[in-house]
Amino acid sequence: MRLIYDFSFPDLASLLLEWDEPSYRAHQIWKGLYRNFWNVPTLFTQLPNRLRLKLAGTLYFDALTPAAIHQSSDKQTIKTLFKLHDSLAIEAVLMKYDQRHTLCVSTQVGCAMGCVFCATGQMGFKRHLSCGEIVAQVMYYARMLAAENEVVTNVVVMGMGEPFHNYDNTMEAIDRLNDPQGYNFGARRFTISTVGLVPVILRFAEEKRQVNLAISLHAADDGMRASMLPVAKRYPIDELLTACHKYVTATGRRITFEWALVNGVNDTPEQARLLAEKLRGLLCHVNAIPLNPTPSYMGQATTRKRAEMFRDILTRSGVPCTIRLRRGLDICAGCGQLISKA
Ligand code: SAH
Ligand code: SF4
Repeated sequence: MRLIYDFSFPDLASLLLEWDEPSYRAHQIWKGLYRNFWNVPTLFTQLPNRLRLKLAGTLYFDALTPAAIHQSSDKQTIKTLFKLHDSLAIEAVLMKYDQRHTLCVSTQVGCAMGCVFCATGQMGFKRHLSCGEIVAQVMYYARMLAAENEVVTNVVVMGMGEPFHNYDNTMEAIDRLNDPQGYNFGARRFTISTVGLVPVILRFAEEKRQVNLAISLHAADDGMRASMLPVAKRYPIDELLTACHKYVTATGRRITFEWALVNGVNDTPEQARLLAEKLRGLLCHVNAIPLNPTPSYMGQATTRKRAEMFRDILTRSGVPCTIRLRRGLDICAGCGQLISKA
């Protein structure tokens, strides 16, 4: 059985054509899925019963089954553990603050990149998510918010997994959500974060998408970076930054660099100065976030004072830097804390 959210509109239209259905049926189903967020065939009441039965017998709609829902004590963060069809599991997070409803979605079960401070990396790689499984995370929360007369305002592709390791499915999911006939979610409201896979960054640059790009940098020299992010052994920082320059030239868009501040490791004045030097002349912004705790990493979060010193060195050198608040920590919904706790 195939997942309905894995179908593009032309795929769905040709399936219905095969079934000898009139062409407006595909439009009705598409609207039902992406405008009304219906997720069971019985809800599609404008379809004849035989067609609903045929859909239910041929395709499946329940990509994700919520298995646990956690709300942070300030009620601003909701994390959902979803069981997938093969009983593996992923997590996705809704953050309600600053008048925004930002969704953090996963692209893989686990992750192959093995960053030492990341809970997802610590669990290893299980499999890629399909396009439809990524889309279904957004539809789940869109449906939940619609019931409160609210909408998703932003989607960050920063949950479990490395999106640039599952590029085609991730981009297809973004295109699907972007479809003006469907959910019509603007490309600029997406941010995709990568650990820094250089060839894929170059491909992304060539495609000149409006999607925002974030890059997990975390260290300004190759030695330290490789000790935190094993993939950095393959892509030295200067090669990565060359790709970033190409991206900015091709798109005119600003890059965000992510930096998890670890006390006494990458929150030093030396790292800040080296970073400022490396980023000189690049249209960018640094998001510094005190490290979130994970089971297998002994490093500690930076202190407020050290974080401010780090930021001030960057901003004085002309590199904009913001210290991000840590959110949802009481339910392990912070950056790098997502895991399949099935
Ligand atoms: N795989 C992608 C996107 C998912 S991780 C990537 O690595 O960019 C989202 C962000 O959380 C990344 O910037 C990642 O480096 C960061 N992160 C991972 N573990 C963290 C931790 N323990 N504390 C703070 N940030 C962390
Ligand atoms: Fe994977 Fe990103 Fe975690 Fe690294 S930080 S292990 S790339 S999810």
